[in-house]
Amino acid sequence: MNKIIVAIDGYSSCGKSTIAKALAKHAGYTYVDTGAMYRAIGLYTLRHRLTAEKDIIAALPQIEIGFIRVDDVQHVTLNGEDVEPFIRTLEVGNRASEISQIKEVRAFLVAQQQRMGEAKGIVMDGRDIGTVVFPDAELKLFLTASPEVRAQRRYDELVAKGGTPRYADVLADVNDRDYRDTHRAESPLRQAEDAVVVDNSHMTPDEQMKVIIALFEEKLAQLE
Ligand code: C5P
Repeated sequence: MNKIIVAIDGYSSCGKSTIAKALAKHAGYTYVDTGAMYRAIGLYTLRHRLTAEKDIIAALPQIEIGFIRVDDVQHVTLNGEDVEPFIRTLEVGNRASEISQIKEVRAFLVAQQQRMGEAKGIVMDGRDIGTVVFPDAELKLFLTASPEVRAQRRYDELVAKGGTPRYADVLADVNDRDYRDTHRAESPLRQAEDAVVVDNSHMTPDEQMKVIIALFEEKLAQLE
């Protein structure tokens, strides 16, 4: 059976990685979380106190990003170190969003992402996968949900982890991130013309999964 590339793009906190992981498992494909790659570079710049764009660009040859599996879960590595425990904070997320505006950082990661997709059989999620990384992907999905729904989900996650966030702050963060992702000069988040839009504001995870598996199976059947 033909293997395809599935490109999943969308706003922050709209459940892209959950759905991408589940689809990769269903299909027996490799899952690649490109946000984790930007976060790992963000972490590197925080650790080395790099703030000037030119210093960040100069450091790129010293940065090696990879993926390993730990207990059947994908973890991102930074120069061989498993950095998964450090990259999911608000601070690293915001830094990732900042460094993702730098053209050279994007070119560095896009080249690596394209190599990962050479053999197809991949589900990749991010902001520019269907538009820049794999403009010829066989299946492109654009996930969306209202900012309020996404902020509530993010708020619930933070509370479940023992945090005491304020809903208004979480919503403001979601709106800021959306603004930055859609207004940056380099590869802004936008829906590819041939992407299928899935608005999951009012779907349960199971309902969404059914819709996405159906789209995937339909695409494979078309290509048979
Ligand atoms: O998806 P996640 O929240 O982990 O991504 C972290 C940040 O990395 C995003 O806010 C976004 O600015 C950036 N990013 C990107 N392009 C991608 C994936 C993530 O610019 N393909």
